Amino acid sequence: MTPAPGDEARALVASIGRWDGRPLTFMEVCGTHTMAAARAGLRSLLPPKVRLVSGPGCPVCVTPVGYVDHAIALAARPEITLVTFGDLVRVPGSRRDLEAPAPTLARAKARGADVRVAYSPLEALAIARAEPAREVVFLGVGFETTAPTIAAVVIAAAAEGLANVSVLGAHKTMPEAMALLAASSELTIDGFLCPGHVSIVTGPEVYAPLADRFHKPCVIAGFEPVEILRGVDALVRQAAAGRAFVENAYPGAVRAGGNPRARAVQDEVFEPCDASWRGLGVIPGSGLAMRDRFARFDAARRFDVRLPAPREPRGCRCGDVLRGAIDPTECALFGTSCTPDTPDGACMVSGEGSCAARWQNLEIGP
Ligand code: SF4
Repeated sequence: MTPAPGDEARALVASIGRWDGRPLTFMEVCGTHTMAAARAGLRSLLPPKVRLVSGPGCPVCVTPVGYVDHAIALAARPEITLVTFGDLVRVPGSRRDLEAPAPTLARAKARGADVRVAYSPLEALAIARAEPAREVVFLGVGFETTAPTIAAVVIAAAAEGLANVSVLGAHKTMPEAMALLAASSELTIDGFLCPGHVSIVTGPEVYAPLADRFHKPCVIAGFEPVEILRGVDALVRQAAAGRAFVENAYPGAVRAGGNPRARAVQDEVFEPCDASWRGLGVIPGSGLAMRDRFARFDAARRFDVRLPAPREPRGCRCGDVLRGAIDPTECALFGTSCTPDTPDGACMVSGEGSCAARWQNLEIGP
């Protein structure tokens, strides 16, 4: 008989609580895990020797400030309609020389820019069809979960012959960032709680180098509190046994080989490239660039935008938060100048950001 979730959760907490070896630090790299763990108060259920920290799992948070500057500059052009997911509109850019306290897409819209919030990139296609005189630019930000959808939009636009839609891309792939963190001496990570949604597309195999090369246990977990606890328990078990392998604790959704169809669509439009991550710098092969044959849909190539070198918001420690090096409360701006109403950095804006979660009295970090 399957145990009730409450019974299983209690049993898992007890199992994890029996760990009495060296302190263990596990990192989750998924914004949905960040919020789910925080909402359920899972950190308070873990013993002092087992720590769950948040890493670079929030796509808006890891998008560098230079990209935000680029988007704001595009929005300022009168011929452009900028279409974006909602979180991005409040992320501060760095051009404080132009605007105080900080420029954002929301402030650009208030000044008259045509910025529209969408729930799906398909809405950009609909706008492009309905308003052929407008140049419609979609902000393509996200991980392996988002890239196939954006690719499908580009393929559809090409098939339709739509000439007035493009994507400003900042897609990233997670395994390369995890490898960077695994190799870092800044924080010793004893294992990864691997992202469930990303893994549905990639399959579990992409984490094998983390286990084989860096000897980091990797467990793919779902998003219910009991599923996250299952993942942490599995990580503790691997660490206790001195083993490191990829374990799929989310088998109902994640299959061997992932979703080859989604990856084929993605590969048709994008190719790997080096990518800049907030807080982690440029990581080789961790981004997705539009292939040359789709160049006309690449907003970065379509519109000539020249900007000064970007600057991170002064005092904001999003980068340290995203590497798991500090808890959000260790940032001097946390709760002083930086709150969800007046965010200084992306991690306080996004619904998946560690700082925003912490502010809501949800607990993340050490
Ligand atoms: S609290 Fe605000 S300023 Fe500090 S790291 Fe988080 S987002 Fe940046």
